[in-house]
Parts: sequence; C-alpha cells; structure tokens
Amino acid sequence: MGTINGSRSRIVVLGAGFGGLNCALGLERHLGAEEVEVVLVDTHPYHLLTPALYLAGTGETANRAVCIPLSEILKTTGIRFQRGTVESIDRDRHEVLLDSGPLSYDTLVVALGNNTDYFGIPGLREHAIPFKSIYDAGHLRHRLKEELDERRNAPIKIVVGGGGFTGAELVGELAPALKLWGDGRQTATQNTIIEAGARLLPTLGAKVSERVSDRLRRHDVSIRVDSMIKSVSNVSVELSSGERLAYDILLWTGGVSGRDRDWLPGAARDHKGNYFVDRWLSLPDDGCFVLGDMAAFTDPRTGKPVPATAQTALEQARYLSANLARLHFEWTPHPYRPRHNGFLIPVIRRYAIIDLTAPARAIISGRIAFWVFEALMLRYLLGILPARKAWGHWRAWLRGLNEAQTKIDSAIDEERPEEEAA
Ligand SMILES: Cc1cc2nc3c(=O)[nH]c(=O)nc-3n(C[C@H](O)[C@H](O)[C@H](O)COP(=O)(O)OP(=O)(O)OC[C@H]3O[C@@H](n4cnc5c(N)ncnc54)[C@H](O)[C@@H]3O)c2cc1C
Repeated sequence: MGTINGSRSRIVVLGAGFGGLNCALGLERHLGAEEVEVVLVDTHPYHLLTPALYLAGTGETANRAVCIPLSEILKTTGIRFQRGTVESIDRDRHEVLLDSGPLSYDTLVVALGNNTDYFGIPGLREHAIPFKSIYDAGHLRHRLKEELDERRNAPIKIVVGGGGFTGAELVGELAPALKLWGDGRQTATQNTIIEAGARLLPTLGAKVSERVSDRLRRHDVSIRVDSMIKSVSNVSVELSSGERLAYDILLWTGGVSGRDRDWLPGAARDHKGNYFVDRWLSLPDDGCFVLGDMAAFTDPRTGKPVPATAQTALEQARYLSANLARLHFEWTPHPYRPRHNGFLIPVIRRYAIIDLTAPARAIISGRIAFWVFEALMLRYLLGILPARKAWGHWRAWLRGLNEAQTKIDSAIDEERPEEEAA
C-alpha cells in the first residue's frame, strides 16, 4: 500500500452498511490507528439494521432501535467518519468525489449496497412504497395510519410485490400490527403477496418455502405465485394473467440492483449491475475492493453466486479487513472462501424459520428459531459496539419488539383461540 504525502496510508471505505462498517472496524482491529488512517463515508449518520426494519414499518417505537448512530459505534475507535454522498470515483487519480468535495485514498473499499429495482414496470415506481430504508419504513407507517383514519372499520387492501425475504417478513407482520393501531379499533386487512417465481423465497429450499407459505396462509395472507406485475395504476395492479388486483397500499420488495449507477466505469458487471470481483474481492488488476451487495462473486465450490445478504456482507468484511492487514504487512494474502451456514427468516410474531446448511442440513422453526434471531442480533451488536451500549441497544430493540408483540399476541389470540403452538 502506498501513502498519501508520505504520511500514514489512507484506506477509504465507502458505505457504513453491513459490509463497509464491519470492514472499517476490522481494519481498526487488525492495523490500529498508527499504521493506517481509516476513513468511513456514508450519506447517513447511522448504521441501519435491515433485518429488523420490518418492525419499524409496522410498529411505532422501533425507529431508534434499528438505526444505530455511527458516532456511538466509532466513538472509541480511531476511524474517521466523513458524512457525505459519493458522487463519483476516479480510480486513475485515486480520488472519490463527495458532495462536499474530493477525498483521496491509497486503498479503496466500495460497499455502497444496492437500490430498489422497479424493472421498468409501468406505474410501479410512482405508486409503490419500496422497503429499503428507514424513510420507507416511515412512509409505510404513515400510509397505514392514513388508511386507518380514513376507513375506520372497512378492510384495508395491502398488496406486496415480491416474495423474497423482505416481502415475506413484512406481509405477515402487517395484519396483526394494524389491528392494534389507533384507538383500539379492530381493522381487518386483506393481504396479498405476489411472486413471479413458482414459490415464495425461491432462493431457499422447497421445504422452507412451504413452511413459510403455510404460516402466512394460516394468518390469512393470500399468496399468488407465478404472477408477474405487468403494470400499476393508482388503484390496482395488473398481473401477467390480465387479472387486476385492487389495492389501498402497494409495497414493492421485488428486487434490488445496482443498474441505476456505475460507480466504477470500465469494470465488468453482471446483469444486476454488480461488479465482478476476483478471489481477493478486488477488481482485477486494480487496488480497488468491492464487497457486499455490490460484489458479484461466484462460490468456486458451488459454482453459484454468493447470496446478497447481511451475512455475506459481514463475512466478506471480516475477510477483507484481515487480508488488507496482511497486504499492509507484506504477508501473503489469502483468497476469499465463502462459508455459508444457512438462512433465518422471522415469520409473524416471535416465530422464525432457520434453513441450516452447515454443519448439518436441518430446518428449525418456531420460538426457538426466533431466540436464535435474538441471540444473533445481540452477537452482532456486541461486535460493533462496546458491551454496555450493545446490551442497551439490544434491550431497547427487545423492549420495542415485546411491547408490539404482546399487543399483537393478544389481538390475534382474541380472534384465533386455536392458533397453533409455536
Ligand atoms: C428490509 C430488508 C430486510 C433484510 N433482511 C435481511 C435478513 O434478515 N438477513 C440478511 O442476511 N439480509 C437481509 N437483508 C439484506 C441485507 O440488508 C443486505 O444484503 C446488506 O445490507 C448488504 O450490505 P452492504 O454493506 O453491501 O450494503 P448496505 O448494508 O445496504 O450498506 C450500504 C451503505 O452505503 C450507503 N450509501 C449508499 N449510497 C451512497 C452514496 N452515494 N454515498 C454515501 N453513502 C452511500 C448507505 O447509506 C448504506 O449505509 C435485508 C434487506 C432489507 C432491505
């Protein structure tokens, strides 16, 4: 690694999401502030816990529990946080152009994530609420409240486009959450999830997909598979079959991609606009590293692209920070070897399903799987925050969850005494 003006080498990390933040923290751990200057850049001053975002969209107190201020995370580290929006990257000049001005680097790590993709479906961008940011969660809450106020006891028709993780988590949580809002009114909803593939969660095994679908159906979610949204008006969606589905609220969780921006001109990209990286998560023949959702990496063991998940971004961040330290000390670098242990998906109330792929193949569902989710959340928070702060955030998250869940439990139990034991 070279140096800027003969001073410490500067590593600039773009994006403080799962990949970027954890890479910066790893660099600090492996190298320390004396060896390198680590600058972390993000538009937002917080780190967003996307796996818990559905709580912010459906509950009232969860906003602060899913947005952790970067100042709290970085306070005891030597990492410099620079708030700003990346406008372009000049790899020849080793410079990032931020809205506040240029920032030079010796080594660059790009982890800017992906954006909602509307696939050019007419009317979708105009009428649907995406679900990717804390603003989207706020927008959803606002729309739910508006509908509640307007229609009192009439059912609210909610359509969710996209049967992946986000769509499945969200659609299940909507009906119970809505029943509690306002002044105790019991408002019915008609919830529909639309998936273009043959089943929900097409990236997971058929058994897991079936369990998730069963649970959603038991909570009156209508599931439409093999259905593509062809166009959207302000009152209905038109499906590929020609059928029209009326909606009051339309959510779009059907896909993310990087197609709308090219941060690294000249670098090869896949059909989703993600950058092909080599075994070192680097652009070939370039000192620029890419990780997380933006990186297109094929697992040499399976021949398949690694999934775009928080878990992958975290694993890549740990790998890359350790490897950049090796490069710094001129030790032989190790190639990246993905280790994928499975998926966890929360599905309505304190219930989750785990699709375990290693060390053994197994499916675990129910409350016990949700406890694993809670434990993983604590472990993650302990990895990015001092222990006391991590504990405090986790408790706040659980408290918000428990308050919402207790209310939700009683509302559902009133209606559904024969509800299955978790
Ligand atoms: C609602 C939802 C639920 C999810 N649930 C799960 C789950 O349960 N489990 C799981 O494993 N994965 C889940 N994911 C996927 C997971 O969030 C992503 O795979 C992961 O966040 C990718 O990490 P990343 O670092 O690549 O990008 P991100 O975490 O998206 O981080 C990108 C960062 O870059 C910043 N940024 C973007 N553009 C700019 C710019 N121009 N200038 C400056 N900063 C910028 C953003 O503010 C953000 O902080 C979920 C995603 C969503 C949206």
